[in-house]
Amino acid sequence: MRILLVEDEERLARSLVRGLQEDGHQVDTCDRGDLAIDQGMQLPYDVAILDWMLPEVDGLTVLRSWRSRGAHMPVLMLTARGETAEKVQALRAGADDYLVKPFAFDELLARLEALQRRGGAGQAVLQFGDVVLDARRRLLRWRDREVAVTAREDQLLRELFEHPGDVLTRSELLARVWGPAFDGEPNVVDVYVGYLRKKLAELGSTQVGVRTVRGVGFRLELGEEAAK
Ligand code: CA
Repeated sequence: MRILLVEDEERLARSLVRGLQEDGHQVDTCDRGDLAIDQGMQLPYDVAILDWMLPEVDGLTVLRSWRSRGAHMPVLMLTARGETAEKVQALRAGADDYLVKPFAFDELLARLEALQRRGGAGQAVLQFGDVVLDARRRLLRWRDREVAVTAREDQLLRELFEHPGDVLTRSELLARVWGPAFDGEPNVVDVYVGYLRKKLAELGSTQVGVRTVRGVGFRLELGEEAAK
């Protein structure tokens, strides 16, 4: 999962990042409410963990702002206060779940997994032409054939499948799939597009392909030419 963690308590944030990364998740962090509003709009996060008490702008305001601007990722709110009135307030503002501090890490993890299963920002099954991306099971499917994809390939495919026919630039794909902090070689995108082409070829569909648009980026296309 790609997770946005908005938490200003440094020690807690660090330990959550460590635990979530060890569990195989990609985590971006933010420690201020005002910055979190923009950060939550930038990428399609699978889930956000949002602390209530934050500097500058509180978590509830951040959440309302996300929802009013169309960010639909599941949000788990953290708070030190456990009163029913506050829980209701959070849920009404658009939170999907609520956890009272202090909590056990395993409980946080279980809640996040439940939120992801319920689905949020990303659709679990995307189709383009005759090829289906089953993001939940990390599979590409064509007729009765299936091929497994890695987490990174799945993210890259999801970007392409969500914007069929649009040219996505290398820098857009880098930011969305590898994250804004990525500082490796931009041609990693080309390398992964190569992997995707191999997998699409393995499937045998002659209809869907990833076209290189020279000097610009990549586009998911229909047609036999695109599949070559
Ligand atoms: Ca706090």
